[in-house]
Amino acid sequence: MPAVTADTLTLPRLPDLPQTATAWRPVREVVRAREFLEGEGFRVRRPFPGVGLANADPFLLLDHMGAVEYGPGEAKGAPWHPHRGFETVTYMIDGALEHRDSAGGGGLITDGGTQWMTAGSGVLHSELPPQDVVARGGLFHGVQLWVNLPRAEKWTPPRYQDIAARDTTLLSSGDGGALVRLVAGDVAGFRGPGATRTPITYLHATLSPGARLDLPWPEDFTAMVYVLAGRGTVGPERRPLDEGHLAVLGRGGALTAHAATPWDVLVLGGLPLNEPVARYGPFVMNTRAEIIQAIEDHQAGRLGRTQVPHVTAADEELS
Ligand code: MN
Repeated sequence: MPAVTADTLTLPRLPDLPQTATAWRPVREVVRAREFLEGEGFRVRRPFPGVGLANADPFLLLDHMGAVEYGPGEAKGAPWHPHRGFETVTYMIDGALEHRDSAGGGGLITDGGTQWMTAGSGVLHSELPPQDVVARGGLFHGVQLWVNLPRAEKWTPPRYQDIAARDTTLLSSGDGGALVRLVAGDVAGFRGPGATRTPITYLHATLSPGARLDLPWPEDFTAMVYVLAGRGTVGPERRPLDEGHLAVLGRGGALTAHAATPWDVLVLGGLPLNEPVARYGPFVMNTRAEIIQAIEDHQAGRLGRTQVPHVTAADEELS
């Protein structure tokens, strides 16, 4: 799992937190991701939304794509479809995804890069593996996170942020055994490159077996740990957490995790919006009337027009 690699000895270190005097967040529940087919039929593991965790406020959805080794001609994506009312944050660990949207945003998301699309008032986009990747096949591993927008920001114009792997803020755990890639938000005074409209922190950490990751975390933020690969434990009670499992943490001022094997985790949390959520497929608003309006606006072409002749059935569906 490459993403960005670095020698942790050369990186800024996170502080060592006192083991007994710190209010560690306990594990409140563990949710296992369920499997779905998305877009043209690629498999995702989705820890939320689901039966176990309906709401992860301010987040709406987490899709773990792969890791999968595609043969030639097998790589799939999600052709043109609409969004309104939130942000899609796509982080590619291995492989590549080509993004285009009707607001003119676009680029190649690859090996450790992140693409942050604020759908806001509405946009159409396509997320497809580049033609050469489809032809060649290869390893594909990524994550898409949906971040809700507060009511006041749902009508903001669409925006596209291309965050290259080299722009990610790299840190080392206090013991030097974990590499932290901070995509957005603040940790211990360090700041990730993603500009967020909803206060969140989002990072990918790679731990060596036996390493410990301690993170100071805002008291008013939610906190979750999702396992991309490997095995470890979370919380002061050392609750086991395996690949495809998500731990929702309770209250406290910091979180702690220990790796049993080489362990890759996402750590994410934010300030809950505590606003009503009305969602239907690719639209997430506050009321049912706003959802109906979104469907009507999309059908009338008011969310934008595709920029390339890539019309498929998915254009007509609310996929
Ligand atoms: Mn999409």
